[in-house]
Amino acid sequence: MDALHSDILIIGAGPAGLHAAFYAAWRGLKVRVLEARGEVGGQLSALYPDKRVYDVPGLPGARAAELVAHLLRQLDGLDVDMSVNRVARELEKVDDGWRVSTDGDTFTAGAVILAAGLGALLPRAARVPGADSHPDVQTDLPDPAGLNGRRVLIVGGVPQAARAALELSEAGADVTLTHSRALFRGNPMTLEKLEAARTSGGFEILAPARLLRLTPQGAELEMDGTARSIKADTVLILGGYLPDLCPIGAWPLDWHGEYVPDAPGGRTVLEGVYVVGDLAQSGGDFKLISVAFAQAAIAANHAAHHVRPELRVRPGHSSEKR
Ligand SMILES: Cc1cc2nc3c(=O)[nH]c(=O)nc-3n(C[C@H](O)[C@H](O)[C@H](O)COP(=O)(O)OP(=O)(O)OC[C@H]3O[C@@H](n4cnc5c(N)ncnc54)[C@H](O)[C@@H]3O)c2cc1C
Repeated sequence: MDALHSDILIIGAGPAGLHAAFYAAWRGLKVRVLEARGEVGGQLSALYPDKRVYDVPGLPGARAAELVAHLLRQLDGLDVDMSVNRVARELEKVDDGWRVSTDGDTFTAGAVILAAGLGALLPRAARVPGADSHPDVQTDLPDPAGLNGRRVLIVGGVPQAARAALELSEAGADVTLTHSRALFRGNPMTLEKLEAARTSGGFEILAPARLLRLTPQGAELEMDGTARSIKADTVLILGGYLPDLCPIGAWPLDWHGEYVPDAPGGRTVLEGVYVVGDLAQSGGDFKLISVAFAQAAIAANHAAHHVRPELRVRPGHSSEKR
């Protein structure tokens, strides 16, 4: 299969990757972003979508998910392809740049920007007795349309669980939501809607309840000291996400622990490969969005010059361009 080519390939769609994508595309380059998860935003959308962030310049107190929405809006009209559900696993030098392989497609680019943060944010495995016995156990947010008309049991208290319950119910699934504690996490609007669904009987909420085991037909729970059998065609076990650096851990980047050293301009030891954000050693223990933005702006402009030497490194001011 032919590799998909872009001028710049960015690994990771967290704040660093999204801002690097903006700058490189704004310089007129074709950009592709590979993201391991099914949605973009990195730690902000996977780990704390509903928390308010106070130290991002210009957007005081915005929720993390809103910040991601703003970053995406900034890409409107630019030549950026977002390839989600793609874990970058191999990096190879080719004549005019680099080739990156995922489990499916292969991508080539003149320059690569590593914005992989703490690692690929992959869903926690479903560690529930009997999980192997049920025919359809999933651990990440599904496409709601694909579960229309199915009985779906959602297990978990993370923000994605409350969101999935509402989205799947709206898309026509017959939803039961359960959690070991009484309270769910999520943004206040989502939680209000959840409460409304509980009161109106829009879908069933069993919490606090203990998931005893999955069965081929669904699950057995214990609630208020009583055992309950729930029928489910699909079981979604949403336990959050864990970062995994292993997919890129063998790339020859002179690793310092979980960091990749970055020389001025975000350069790594590999010519044409740059590093930004939480993965870059210069930011190190800061691990801040504002630091990631600055590193992304610098590296993207160096990468742009690397791919097209006729482009100066300095981008000039956006306020003076159309
Ligand atoms: C609970 C919490 C609260 C925080 N609060 C704040 C705050 O208030 N202010 C602040 O400034 N910072 C805060 N941070 C830190 C901030 O979220 C990080 O500094 C920021 O997300 C780093 O951005 P990044 O783009 O470098 O990495 P990430 O956000 O980690 O994004 C990296 C992306 O790369 C993807 N990826 C990794 N490997 C691969 C691969 N091999 N293939 C494809 N995709 C891959 C990951 O799935 C992920 O989506 C907080 C962090 C946490 C956990």
